[in-house]
Amino acid sequence: MKLYNSATHTIDTFKTHEPGKLKMYTCGPTVYHYAHIGNLRSYIMEDVLEKTFRQTGYDVLRIMNITDVGHLSSDADTGEDKMLKGAKREHKTVMEIADFYTKAFFEDCRKLNIRTPDVVAPATSYIQDFIHMIQKLLDDGYAYLAGGNVYFDTSKLDQYYIFNKHNEEDLEVGVREGVEADGNKRNKCDFVLWFTKSKFEDQELKWESPWGMGYPGWHIECSAISLKYAGEYLDLHCGGIDNQFPHHTNEIAQSEAYLGHTWCPQWFHVHHLNSSDGKMSKSKGEFLTVSLLESKGYKPLAYRFFCLQSHYRKSLLFTYDNLDNAQNSYLRLIERVSRIMENNPGGDVDSAVFGEMKEKFYAALEDDLNTSMAITVLYDVLKSDTNARTKLELIREFDNVLSLDLIQEAERLLAPKAEDPAGSDETRMIESLIAQRTEAKKSKNYAEADRIRDLLNQMGVSVTDTANGPVWKKV
Ligand code: AMP
Ligand code: ZN
Repeated sequence: MKLYNSATHTIDTFKTHEPGKLKMYTCGPTVYHYAHIGNLRSYIMEDVLEKTFRQTGYDVLRIMNITDVGHLSSDADTGEDKMLKGAKREHKTVMEIADFYTKAFFEDCRKLNIRTPDVVAPATSYIQDFIHMIQKLLDDGYAYLAGGNVYFDTSKLDQYYIFNKHNEEDLEVGVREGVEADGNKRNKCDFVLWFTKSKFEDQELKWESPWGMGYPGWHIECSAISLKYAGEYLDLHCGGIDNQFPHHTNEIAQSEAYLGHTWCPQWFHVHHLNSSDGKMSKSKGEFLTVSLLESKGYKPLAYRFFCLQSHYRKSLLFTYDNLDNAQNSYLRLIERVSRIMENNPGGDVDSAVFGEMKEKFYAALEDDLNTSMAITVLYDVLKSDTNARTKLELIREFDNVLSLDLIQEAERLLAPKAEDPAGSDETRMIESLIAQRTEAKKSKNYAEADRIRDLLNQMGVSVTDTANGPVWKKV
């Protein structure tokens, strides 16, 4: 496997500390709201990476934290506490919010065929591990107490910046929007390990600690949880590109200070999904969730397909037109697979063709996770003149990684229609789309009405407007 490593800025041959055994850590979601589809782009690409390793013979241990405490809305230890913000918004307790949105996150993952990590670790269950780590950092002189909080002292490191050379001026506290000066910090980039003095007097979750009642800073959780499950040597750390600084930089600082040696040599960062007006956000513009896409008639796996069509190291523009194209291609792909199935694929697998195409497929993925090339290999299989049995076995093999349910969806397409079509998922979806189209027309939103009609056409449904309202049929 050749993989771009953000820490070295080069495409390196991937190595593990113990041969064949891969310890992989992923920064999990902050569970104060639904994940937007940008967050989920990162998890989809990490899922493909994990499955590529598994299918090529690695024994993978995948760990993910759940941030249910301590992530402030600014990355610079300031701003509102995201969890508290969620609790206030919904008049619930922080733990109710965490529980609800953790379940919602895994439900989205299920719909997108993202495998649940081997270890899922909510930060609030590891407070004693954080306290232990912070105490050692204090004992070893890497941390200090000031104004009641515990801070990491970045001046104690030979090298603090890992991924980028930051311009110190840009990091000047107060220069960045929404960042307030913290007079307790000895150096600009010092960060909080443990808060006891906070401007949130109503902070709901607090724990006893040697430094007083308080709660952890955001970064400590990933270091402590990783050390607990992966031990002293982590092989690969993943996250979205925005996590590079300060989050991952701080994780490295505190983990290596704690261990006294290099911690994780390989870093995988997924670039952002952007909307037309810039960075995707939960608070401004349309809040794009998997459920919203479903309510507009998109299949979650069409979104997965959309993500796989582009490289993880390029930012990706989300528009409904782009998603329409992806859904169209995805549905056509399923139809093509179903036609191969109809051909009664008896006979033997052509092992030479199977081996050659399988090799091409994994060669694409092992070339810095070139998912769009891997999909091209899939199309090459469909186009080829090998027998149907070989094609289906290759599709099945590729789908272990792509996870697009190609075989299952094609089988569904071929299955005799359910006895109660009015009650089927598909009928409900069509009727909901037709109702949305009627609403759009009523409010003179003709562009939206046309978009829905096109979508229905793609699904093989034609709609006619009659005096008694719209009537639809499958064509
Ligand atoms: P959060 O729940 O905010 O901690 O973010 C969860 C994950 O989504 C992190 O790995 C982020 O880096 C990543 N992320 C945030 N915004 C985007 C985006 N627009 N596109 C891709 N990944 C993102
Ligand atoms: Zn993290």
